[in-house]
Amino acid sequence: MPESRSEFDVAIIGAGVNGAGIARDAALRGLKVIILDKNDMCSGTSAVSSRLIHGGLRYLEYGELSLVYESLRERRCLRRIAEHLVKPLRISIPIFSGARRGLFLIHMGMLAYDLLSFRKSIPGHEMLDRDSIRTEEPGLRDEGLLGAARYYDAQVTFAERLVLENLLAARAAGAKIMTYCEVLRIGTVNGVVSCIVYADASGAEQEVRVASIVNASGPWVDDVLKFAPRPAKRFVGGTKGSHIVVGRFEGAPRDAFYVEAAADGRPFFIIPWNNQYLIGTTDIRYNGSLDRIRASRAEIDYLVAETNRVFPHADLQIGDIHFAYAGVRPLPYREKGPESAITRRHIIKTNRKIARRLVSIIGGKLTTYRSLAEQTVDKLAKILRRKLPECRTRDIVLPGAWGIDRATERLTSSQLLSEQGVSRLLSIYGGRAVGIVELAEDNAELSKTLNDNRTVLAAEVVFAVREEFAACLTDIVFRRMMIGLDADQGRGLYGSIAAIAAAEFGWTPGDADHELQDLRAYADSLRVA
Ligand SMILES: Cc1cc2nc3c(=O)[nH]c(=O)nc-3n(C[C@H](O)[C@H](O)[C@H](O)COP(=O)(O)OP(=O)(O)OC[C@H]3O[C@@H](n4cnc5c(N)ncnc54)[C@H](O)[C@@H]3O)c2cc1C
Repeated sequence: MPESRSEFDVAIIGAGVNGAGIARDAALRGLKVIILDKNDMCSGTSAVSSRLIHGGLRYLEYGELSLVYESLRERRCLRRIAEHLVKPLRISIPIFSGARRGLFLIHMGMLAYDLLSFRKSIPGHEMLDRDSIRTEEPGLRDEGLLGAARYYDAQVTFAERLVLENLLAARAAGAKIMTYCEVLRIGTVNGVVSCIVYADASGAEQEVRVASIVNASGPWVDDVLKFAPRPAKRFVGGTKGSHIVVGRFEGAPRDAFYVEAAADGRPFFIIPWNNQYLIGTTDIRYNGSLDRIRASRAEIDYLVAETNRVFPHADLQIGDIHFAYAGVRPLPYREKGPESAITRRHIIKTNRKIARRLVSIIGGKLTTYRSLAEQTVDKLAKILRRKLPECRTRDIVLPGAWGIDRATERLTSSQLLSEQGVSRLLSIYGGRAVGIVELAEDNAELSKTLNDNRTVLAAEVVFAVREEFAACLTDIVFRRMMIGLDADQGRGLYGSIAAIAAAEFGWTPGDADHELQDLRAYADSLRVA
């Protein structure tokens, strides 16, 4: 039997939120796991979402009650297991005369949302009359305003860190994590999965024997299936979604806003995020290249115009945009029908015609990654005919959620950072920030702060490399330290970060230059011309 010779019980292709969640769950239940990503972890769809941990109020319109219920239950769970990363977010829905969704419909939706999130850890909804919402949000458009609904969901400011912490937990439970390793082939023996072949970071082909495979490559699911010996029908039919990020604007709201666009009646978000505003998203069928997805000018114009309409003092211009990003939702393939009506429910697909012991994940939101992982590992147990222990990911908190009080004390008493810096580190690393302080206290060079307001510590760079498997400057800046998501993409610090990373990796000056060029090119690719 293939598994008796396998090095791993399961190979997971794709280290986005779903692959990372599956790796953690499978490793915690005792499976030998390898997870591979062709780029860095969280470099695909999981990094380009609206960053909400939400029930999906809009799914109520399509009668997806069980999805909303599951999402709200998972919201509660993620608030518990990742309290440093997932925070409550108050959202207002303004209601204007002539809108598709009137006061009555919104109120009914709110009541249903509250009902479905029973035992919730955040407050229920309230309805506000016109004067109350105007007093609280004076920048909101006056004309035609009837009132507003207000409710709570949650936000994961740095989804990248949520993915990372799942991988760190997986690694601690024995999983092998391989970034910059592109899977090129799926091997089978007698129609049963036997191995994967991948190109490692140097481009060399490697083969690893595996007893099963989970294809968690998000929008790339069909591309990966092309590497299997037998053809598959199309599973994924993605829709593109874009966001823009702007600074505080005239009349900017205090709360997040969920607004119906005048142009097409679609709701979109204006969300206070990372000291800026994240505005999105669009929803357009997409069949183009998955590897360099950019927000189009038409999408950007739409988001700018709709924001200016709802907050008329904003007067946002293209030049006000700090950066923009876009991605493709890995939704089930549907040839026809409106984009917004395609189910957001995930499907865990096995298909014996392609290969036995191969599972493909179609869909899946950030919000429901944990339950998706649980269901996938339950399925793997059946496929592998193994009796595995019960899933424990509901109860075991993620690595950064341990020891937050102790980390707060250590960071404050070390006096290495300003007050703002202490809260920055806690919001990124949670309790793991202690490891950064320990590095800094051992080495005078690493105890320096890199900026005038003393919020970024040199030790973070070394921590990203030693503890968080960052492999290049872009990983460090955009997916570990998170300063890449600042208004200027953290550009002022690139030089000092490169110098520390060069010493840590042993780069030559030429290597460091090359790395810096790659980092700047990546940062530039997010700018809107
Ligand atoms: C615009 C937009 C807004 C969204 N907003 C929200 C939201 O607010 N809340 C929410 O809950 N969900 C949201 N979602 C949905 C959610 O972000 C995605 O469904 C989820 O992140 C998918 O994760 P994934 O791990 O399946 O895929 P991905 O994150 O795309 O990961 C797949 C990985 O596979 C890797 N890969 C591909 N091919 C190979 C190969 N051959 N070898 C090795 N690796 C490979 C890729 O590099 C990638 O890292 C949004 C999605 C979009 C697009």
